[in-house]
Amino acid sequence: MSVVTRFAPSPTGMLHLGGARTALFNWLYARHHGGTFRLRLEDTDRKRSTPEAIAAIEGGLRWLGLDWDGEIVRQSERRQRHVEVAQALLASGGAYRCYCTPEELKAMRAEARAQGRAALYDGRWRDRDPADAPPGVDPVIRFRAPREGETIISDLVQRNIKIDNTALDDMVLLRADGTPTYMHSVVVDDHDMGITHAIRGDDHLTNAFRQTQLFRALGWEPPAYAHIPLIHGPDGAKLSKRHGAVAVGAYAELGILPAAMRNALLRLGWSHGDDEIIDTAQAIAWFDLDAVNRGAARFDMEKLQSLNGHYIRESADSDLLADVVQRLAVQHPAAATDQARRRVEALLPEAKARAKTLVELADNLSFLVCDRPLAMTPKAARLLGDDGSEARARLGRLRATLQDSAAWNESNLEEAVRGFVEDEDVKLGAIAQPLRAALTGSHASPGIFAVMAALGREETVARLADAGD
Ligand code: GLU
Repeated sequence: MSVVTRFAPSPTGMLHLGGARTALFNWLYARHHGGTFRLRLEDTDRKRSTPEAIAAIEGGLRWLGLDWDGEIVRQSERRQRHVEVAQALLASGGAYRCYCTPEELKAMRAEARAQGRAALYDGRWRDRDPADAPPGVDPVIRFRAPREGETIISDLVQRNIKIDNTALDDMVLLRADGTPTYMHSVVVDDHDMGITHAIRGDDHLTNAFRQTQLFRALGWEPPAYAHIPLIHGPDGAKLSKRHGAVAVGAYAELGILPAAMRNALLRLGWSHGDDEIIDTAQAIAWFDLDAVNRGAARFDMEKLQSLNGHYIRESADSDLLADVVQRLAVQHPAAATDQARRRVEALLPEAKARAKTLVELADNLSFLVCDRPLAMTPKAARLLGDDGSEARARLGRLRATLQDSAAWNESNLEEAVRGFVEDEDVKLGAIAQPLRAALTGSHASPGIFAVMAALGREETVARLADAGD
């Protein structure tokens, strides 16, 4: 039997980390087994489902590199089929019409609560003669759930779990207006799509019992379930906005690489020994459900950033360049020119070794495309000192030397600066830091000779003129 998994989000908001992790696990499971990964939009709640949310989900999955097989299934377009299945179950006695009014249901729930019982539907229309139906009430169609015995699911993560059938009531399959419920639609769709494995958050565990009962009543085999634990923040509380961004799109903006995000999501509840860095090819080869932990997973932004630093270092410069230039161009239109691009390209190999996000990488290189005169950080300003300082005077003399130094490349520049400090009878440090401040506006940057080479003679000399005497 070939594996078929699915990601079945309700498009009512952004793609969040929990959803992305569910999608990843389904995708990996399918890819590991050479199976199929389907995307199904559970958009039956027409009021809450929005085109923006659908675009965010598709965009988020594309960004993460989780490609789905076949057409996207939209649950709302399958409504007729859902209705037919409910009607067939009604005809065979597996479902029945219930004429309870909303007031009656409310009273039923209140009474149950007053008696300390769970607020379940009491089945009062299960065996009642439809001739008793009150006039003017449109009935709902309820599932005739088994009342005796227990329902067992052999969950691939939670192991065997069972529930006493008295703990569940007769759920609604079709509402009074004829629309199918979410619980019913999921069962019909999982069956029709040939889903073999439903991997999803463990907040769906109770649904799995109800869905299993319905599958069996319809004479169908339920998929194998794997309920994965929820995601918590580093403090152990359920993941929420206060732990940082929860929408996947925000991580793209923060300059997280999709490969790093996949790696971090993979480690949320799944492990392979002590391995932290697991690239996607390796993940496909290793992924299986028996290594999913049962305890809640913890999302840690620092860990994500350090993984991201790794994937940035591993990336080819050519894969980073366009992104960094684009980020720079948002604040510095000059970054879009060929000249600026060449400067960024020259320093990328060194700069990428020290950045944890693409935002940081762009920030560290922004001095290359800033307009003159450069704004100075307080530390850089201190390195240069006041007007007329010795540091500024020395930079002025260095400018004169550099103006007509030979070929403008890193080793020549190093030789020229070393020669200059010897002539001045000072240590390299006495010029290197003020020089860095004058050329970058900061006290930290890539190697100073590489910076000069990247800026080019004209710009270097101009920036020295701005800072020097
Ligand atoms: N639509 C459900 C959700 O977004 C998922 C249903 C399922 O995976 O069975 O939580």
